[in-house]
Amino acid sequence: MPRSRSINQDDLRNHNLSVVLTTLLQSVSPMSRAQLAKSTGLTKATMSLLSDILLTNEVVEELDPQQKTGNGRPSTPLAFRPGCWVGIGMQINTDGYGYTVTDIAGETVMEEWIDKSMTGTTPDDAFAALDELLRPVEATLKRRNYRIVGAGLALPGLIAELEDGDQRLLMAPNLGWENLDLHRFEVMRRLEAVSDNEANLAAIAQIPGYASCRPTAQVKDVAEMTHADRSSTESRPDETLSPEDSFLYISTDVGVGGAFVRAGSLVRGDHGFAGEIGHVSVDMNGPECRCGRRGCLEMYAGRRELVRNAGIADGDEAVQGRYVKELHDRWRADDDRAVYAIDQALSAMASAASSAINMLDVDTIVLGGFWSVFGDDLAARLRERVIPWVLARHAFNLRVLSCSSLERPALRGAAAFGLRRLIERPMDYLDI
Ligand SMILES: [Zn+2]
Repeated sequence: MPRSRSINQDDLRNHNLSVVLTTLLQSVSPMSRAQLAKSTGLTKATMSLLSDILLTNEVVEELDPQQKTGNGRPSTPLAFRPGCWVGIGMQINTDGYGYTVTDIAGETVMEEWIDKSMTGTTPDDAFAALDELLRPVEATLKRRNYRIVGAGLALPGLIAELEDGDQRLLMAPNLGWENLDLHRFEVMRRLEAVSDNEANLAAIAQIPGYASCRPTAQVKDVAEMTHADRSSTESRPDETLSPEDSFLYISTDVGVGGAFVRAGSLVRGDHGFAGEIGHVSVDMNGPECRCGRRGCLEMYAGRRELVRNAGIADGDEAVQGRYVKELHDRWRADDDRAVYAIDQALSAMASAASSAINMLDVDTIVLGGFWSVFGDDLAARLRERVIPWVLARHAFNLRVLSCSSLERPALRGAAAFGLRRLIERPMDYLDI
């Protein structure tokens, strides 16, 4: 039975490599072979073999030996090597399109974003423009000997997985697109790109060590900081997410989306649609939403509706991104309509978020998109409104984190999504 033994050994090696890569990704600092062996439960001999594979394939590199205290030999830490293995993230959004290339060490290799209103752009034109943007990037990466692991594409809509492995965009109402076979676009086929909802990918970008080594701090607990400043007697909770944390990610743009991460893993649901918090109705008699329901969260907390409700612009004009700053300035200046619009949006958001927390049993909300750039106050006020509506509020400390420091998180999550294949199936990419 030599053949089946060989397959099993490959599976085992794939599994072990994946475990080693995950352990190193989730560590806050480089680890020696001995530390990795101890953390993973692998023997030192196996660890030595696996680290040789990762070194030869330029996934990791050896740092300068560290002298141990005591009589032990100096240990050589292994760290992810920049400049070789990359993932490509792409995004088409209402306000433009672009890409980012991230390596496994977490460094941005190349990136570009084209500001352009995409509402009304046909899918053929949008994907052709994305294709044109990516071709020279791929050529440059190839010339510099980068290895492209995979690519992800963030779209503001619902994407279904088809039985033959292809993907279909069911609807992206804010782009005006529906029922779109994504495999028919050349750039998707050429890069073997996998598409996902922008909120799902933005949530992935928040998970430390998902596909590249951990940054120092991605999110800041602005709500808690303000709270702590007011009440110095309370202890300050952890301000950042850990790799195994659970959280509800709320993405705010023209549309409001959401994603749920349980213990460091994205929960997609059976069909990939989990977390659509923007179409949770918070008022059965509210304004009619594009989805056909009344009083959806998006009708109060979405960018277009907030700008309209604040009396800044009307009709399709309200979708222009530049009005966010206007809204923010008017709110700060205590303009009556802006204050009222934000107050309504906060109530709607608190209602939907507390319902989600009660259903999911999760203690952390991460705010993304334009809500996260409104400063500490908004997150703090949201936290204050959510707490009384959480049934088990005495059992845990609710955190409202803001990811304002991470620009275009869905784009970064899309790159991580592409790069993640190397972590899950290392043997498909590495030369043994
Ligand atoms: Zn709706």
